[in-house]
Amino acid sequence: MTMAKSRDAVKELVPTELITTSDSESDSEGESNADKNDIKDISKSSYHSIISPWLGCLVWPLLLTVPLVLTCSSHSYDKVFPKSWYEYNSEERPKVLGLFLGIFTVAVGQIFVLIFFYLYKHGYLGPIPKSIQAKGARQYEWSEGVATHFAQPEGFVLLVLYLSITWMLNWMPASYYSFNGFIQWPETFFCLVLQDGIQYAMHRLEHVVSFEFYEFSHKPHHRFTNPRLFDAFNGSMADTIIMILVPLFATAHIVRTCNVWSYMAFGSLYANWLTLIHSEYVLPWDGVFRFLGMGTPGDHHVHHKFFKFNFGHLFMWFDQLGGSYRSPKEFSRRAFHENV
Ligand SMILES: [Zn+2]
Ligand SMILES: [Zn+2]
Repeated sequence: MTMAKSRDAVKELVPTELITTSDSESDSEGESNADKNDIKDISKSSYHSIISPWLGCLVWPLLLTVPLVLTCSSHSYDKVFPKSWYEYNSEERPKVLGLFLGIFTVAVGQIFVLIFFYLYKHGYLGPIPKSIQAKGARQYEWSEGVATHFAQPEGFVLLVLYLSITWMLNWMPASYYSFNGFIQWPETFFCLVLQDGIQYAMHRLEHVVSFEFYEFSHKPHHRFTNPRLFDAFNGSMADTIIMILVPLFATAHIVRTCNVWSYMAFGSLYANWLTLIHSEYVLPWDGVFRFLGMGTPGDHHVHHKFFKFNFGHLFMWFDQLGGSYRSPKEFSRRAFHENV
């Protein structure tokens, strides 16, 4: 039996990733290189098919980096900041630290979303993803997408203005200014559901009140019938006020027991999830999200493409209750890819 044959026999018994070869074992240089390429290809494909889809899911806990780090005992906020920077007294003007950390939390979340999306879109986290819509994803320069995303006055600019005004003018319930405790998961979850419920109602109103109202408020966002991730906050000032800021204010005044960490967690999950559902590609977690009725890019593309279904954003529960939910799979092959 030649050395090459005996190595083939070993290959059948041992997982390919664990087999290593050295040049001295090879019968010829060419055969050795071919084997090495085979092993590399198999390792690469197992990385792409098994490990990498799960790497993308890490973006979700990373959205909460700031509140998680500042409430873990070794880096706790009381060791980092002097007490006078965060102590709240309703008689005095609110301290700016909570506002700064809230905006910083969302900004850090956005950075992780953009890193994830860049790697995912360009095939570093698996095969190049398929577009949601059958006609393909819109082509654009990455730098143009990022610039458009952050520069829209009706997007993050208006959101930061809203957060700053409501915070500094003491318009938030007192608990929101408190640094005591950790992320309150039930409150955070309730805020997300309530925000999406109110946003769902406002969104439906924008569509049905009158054509003039729709044209003035929501129509600019609907010029994207095949949206991309960077179109999430691209619309009009009126649309952001009606569909995002009014629900944010109402949610805060209904869920009146959040501390500052829960408000940060809610804000980051909300803003970044809203961004992600505008992705032009199916995302790694979509199967689980679809099963749970949580919003996916496919669900939101149904709204952008057909206008009269899927008014919810983070959850499809309100559409499922109201009869306006349509799975993107219903439109597969003709308008959407089969894999949505
Ligand atoms: Zn949209
Ligand atoms: Zn709409």
